[in-house]
Amino acid sequence: MHYFNVLIVDDEEDFLETIIKRLNKRQVDASGALSGEKALELLKEKTFDVVILDIKMPGGMDGIEALAEIKKIQPLAEVILLTGHASVETSIEGMRLGAFDYLLKPIKLDDLLKKIAQAIEKKDVHDQKIRSAQIKKLLKYW
Ligand SMILES: [Mg+2]
Repeated sequence: MHYFNVLIVDDEEDFLETIIKRLNKRQVDASGALSGEKALELLKEKTFDVVILDIKMPGGMDGIEALAEIKKIQPLAEVILLTGHASVETSIEGMRLGAFDYLLKPIKLDDLLKKIAQAIEKKDVHDQKIRSAQIKKLLKYW
């Protein structure tokens, strides 16, 4: 039984597979994408609670471009950025664009799990606010 949906976007295949396996063991339904483009395809098909997004990806779309598109497709998904020491500035920019937080690579699984839990907690509070506003609206017109 999985309770949470998490998408990990990273161009390092070994890293991606390891993290997915470990998350799947811990009641997290983890999916992976090796590029920003692939991530956007998945986000159009399925709702995710949290997206873990590598800032540095070679080729097409970089992390910041991907972040902007992710927020357009699923504004309620919380995004955690993965960054190297050289790209902390980019993570700060990412948080201005709506990312929840960032983690420095190499990441420890425990830190990632904690961060995912915090992101889900924040999302839950937000989801509840939206739901109670919808209920108020409903009561007003019935
Ligand atoms: Mg990378």
